[in-house]
Amino acid sequence: MGKTYDAVVVGAGVFGAWTTWHLLRAGQRVLVVDKYGPASARASSGGETRVIRMAYGSDEIYTRMSQQSLPAWTNFFARIGSPGLFRETGVLSLAAEEDEAAVQSVAVLVRNGIRHEVLDHDTLVQRYPQMAVPPGGWGIFEPESGGLFARRAVQAVVQDNLRAGAELRLAAAGAPAGDTHLAEIRTDSGEAIRADRFVFACGPWLGNVLPDILGGRIFPTRQEVFYFGTAGDRRFSARDLPIWLDFGLGYYGFPDIDERGFKVAHDAHGEAFDPDTLERFPTPARIAHAREFLARRFPALAAAPLIATEVCQYENTSNGDFVLDRHPAFDNVWIAGGGSGHGFKHGPAVGAYLVGRMLEDAPAEPRFSIATKQGVQNREVH
Ligand SMILES: Cc1cc2nc3c(=O)[nH]c(=O)nc-3n(C[C@H](O)[C@H](O)[C@H](O)COP(=O)(O)OP(=O)(O)OC[C@H]3O[C@@H](n4cnc5c(N)ncnc54)[C@H](O)[C@@H]3O)c2cc1C
Repeated sequence: MGKTYDAVVVGAGVFGAWTTWHLLRAGQRVLVVDKYGPASARASSGGETRVIRMAYGSDEIYTRMSQQSLPAWTNFFARIGSPGLFRETGVLSLAAEEDEAAVQSVAVLVRNGIRHEVLDHDTLVQRYPQMAVPPGGWGIFEPESGGLFARRAVQAVVQDNLRAGAELRLAAAGAPAGDTHLAEIRTDSGEAIRADRFVFACGPWLGNVLPDILGGRIFPTRQEVFYFGTAGDRRFSARDLPIWLDFGLGYYGFPDIDERGFKVAHDAHGEAFDPDTLERFPTPARIAHAREFLARRFPALAAAPLIATEVCQYENTSNGDFVLDRHPAFDNVWIAGGGSGHGFKHGPAVGAYLVGRMLEDAPAEPRFSIATKQGVQNREVH
């Protein structure tokens, strides 16, 4: 019989990587199983960059998790000698004249002591002349927020975990079987892996891996990301422009960083997506839609050439709240997922929360329970 681990973590995306990291700090012997490898091109964590911001409307719980996660990321990057995996570009959330969510964001930022500036229309126009701001538009600028180099950051956490003693198996894990207590999981190569506890952090695959519990309650959607060439125009580089979010028009993006191009992505949920089988070519309709957005908001880039693309998937819950909970049928099986297009930044806080629940019986947050997840999408968290 093979050895028994303290914990097996299935999935080496951002949630699994940070859960493992915290388990190791708690002295656990951990085996990680991933069927495609850490932050692969199929995983939701496999993109080039992800935003970390604090403004979350009235959803203060996520503001606090971001606030907890940002120093965890930067301390980690400093310790491994890769501080450049975070870029402090600042993040600008654009708001319409009557924008209740933005007003709520400001109140939450103030309450939590988060540095920010409220920029009125004239200040926006003056500071960012490359951006067209409609009358009445205003914004919230967070100078200390920015961008994470997502794929490389997760792979760095996994490497750090391996150095700290974790083991990594490239294999697909099967669903938990048995009742009340799970002794082992089986992989597609026929291996049985025994552990005291198991974490399923399978991102968009959670509904397939745990069909009884999450089938029809995790909605993977196709999302396209575009990088437009700026030809070195510094108005669109991180020197002159922060990361920006325009929830009114449904877009967000990055200035040109490291000559990758000006990143533009539509945050509205795309079609249902199978991360195993579907190809990842961009669609002409969505490219045209992104160009229409550019023409409105960054007119100088409306005709810029498309120089790179990514097709990824969100792994949405019904309302956008995460699933971080114990499996209802097993006392030693835990679930981490439902990042819903905004989960990446929170990796460190998610890992800390889950390990606190697992090892210290820390209080449960009702918003993260399986019971609150519905079978019909009704997005509330952005
Ligand atoms: C285009 C796009 C833009 C985004 N932008 C942002 C942003 O700006 N800011 C932000 O905070 N968040 C953002 N997100 C959301 C964020 O990236 C995700 O919420 C997060 O990466 C999810 O991580 P995860 O670990 O849950 O899942 P994943 O990264 O998908 O990891 C799941 C892992 O499980 C493995 N796996 C699955 N099934 C099995 C099995 N049976 N056996 C073994 N291994 C298995 C997979 O191979 C995979 O590696 C964005 C997402 C997308 C797609």
